[in-house]
Amino acid sequence: MIKSLSVNLKIFRIEENLLAENERLAEENRQILGKKGIVAFNLMGGPGTGKTSLLEKTIPRLPESLPCGIIEGDVAGSLDGERLARLGVPVVQINTGSCHLDASMVRKGLEHLPLERLKIIFVENVGNLVCPAEFPLGTDKQVVVSAVTEGDDKPVKYPLMFQVASLCLLNKVDLLPAVNFSVEKFGQNIRQTNSSLKIISLSAQSGENLNAWVEYVISQCS
Ligand code: MG
Ligand code: ZN
Repeated sequence: MIKSLSVNLKIFRIEENLLAENERLAEENRQILGKKGIVAFNLMGGPGTGKTSLLEKTIPRLPESLPCGIIEGDVAGSLDGERLARLGVPVVQINTGSCHLDASMVRKGLEHLPLERLKIIFVENVGNLVCPAEFPLGTDKQVVVSAVTEGDDKPVKYPLMFQVASLCLLNKVDLLPAVNFSVEKFGQNIRQTNSSLKIISLSAQSGENLNAWVEYVISQCS
């Protein structure tokens, strides 16, 4: 009994150190980005919510005065990195092997991007509604991408993600007629979890309301 307790305590301490070290590296990333005048967005959300598609539709709508780079996090493979590289922007694909990006991985990504000529960096986190929220990366804005196909209960089931975010993009609203999703209920669940979280409903696929998000990105860069 005592033995298993001490093992548990030891594991807990390692996790604490890990999070503290991540916090320190995230702060360094923040300073690196700040010195270069780069605004960074950390896109988080479950798999299949449309994070990559959103970036594909967003980047061509940004003005030439705001060149961007991408750090793409996936457990394995480079499918999303390849999709985004086709837009002609610099992309660093990071294979995490685990379920989230951490600040040290993002640091490596920054080392491989031409920071001198960038104004924006989009970080696409590993598709996961849980632990990406626990690992700050040093990005300026945390954005949670939800989709109507996920159900309207996600903010209360995965509260931390919606608490660390300052913007929620509710994607795939073109599919609303086909799914059992209440936009009103989703809004209530968000307010219950994080009353100051702003929501933009849009569809990367149909382009509906995409400009509201693009304008938000631009407004963060001035
Ligand atoms: Mg993706
Ligand atoms: Zn994880």
